[in-house]
Amino acid sequence: MNSSHAEPATDAGPHDRFPHASAGADVMLLVAVLLPPAALDELGALVEERTVTTPYGPVGPLALRRLPSGQTVWLQPYSGPATRTDPRATIYAAWQLGVRRVVAWDQVIGLNPVLPRGQAGVVVDYIDWTRQAASFAGAPPAKPESGAPAFCPRLIAALQAALPFAVDVVYLGVDGPRRETPAEARLYRLWGADVIGQNVTPEAALCQEAGLCFAALVTVGDAAADRQARPPQGELRGGLAAVLAELPALLEAVAQAEACACAGA
Ligand SMILES: [Zn+2]
Repeated sequence: MNSSHAEPATDAGPHDRFPHASAGADVMLLVAVLLPPAALDELGALVEERTVTTPYGPVGPLALRRLPSGQTVWLQPYSGPATRTDPRATIYAAWQLGVRRVVAWDQVIGLNPVLPRGQAGVVVDYIDWTRQAASFAGAPPAKPESGAPAFCPRLIAALQAALPFAVDVVYLGVDGPRRETPAEARLYRLWGADVIGQNVTPEAALCQEAGLCFAALVTVGDAAADRQARPPQGELRGGLAAVLAELPALLEAVAQAEACACAGA
């Protein structure tokens, strides 16, 4: 047993592995959509900002915000594909902070022609076409393989309930910063992917390995390279605003979702 992460002898929950994180939150939201500067202020008051040191580099500043219900949530800006943080650092930081549930909100390219710009989606499956490390290789210690799905079924249900206008999508993860070619878009569509993005894989696998619940929602920002996109008419802004309006309730539903098998027995 790794003594530095040994379970305490008291009647404590998983958080008490990290006594320093007792004032933190159960939920972390990775914000990979471009929002107006003050948009997140409307979620709730800023309680704390913190940068976390991990073996994979620093993460932060993470913002701890208090929702109207009193619930707190860590928010991590997650856009900027070319220079973004090692996904292992982000998920390691979440684990280190005692977070149990991670939700990503990603702005994506629509492969499926029925998905207009601004459409919201809940990710139900993925293809990881990135070249990034998808395992911690031991730290944090991997949960035993349980056959559990990559996305937490309880969180998916919470997202679907909070966003009745969202559709289920299959996500294809790529490395940035370049866009897909038309030939790649046709190939990805043949594989069964509905959207392309850069911020959900390998995070999904890393959360699974670390025993954290993970789910992702997306907003379609543009059409894939093999499709004719009409000039933007505010659909993206409207789509982001629609999700933003539901975000406090969504995050509360995520925090209160029933227990699942993601963290192991
Ligand atoms: Zn779960």
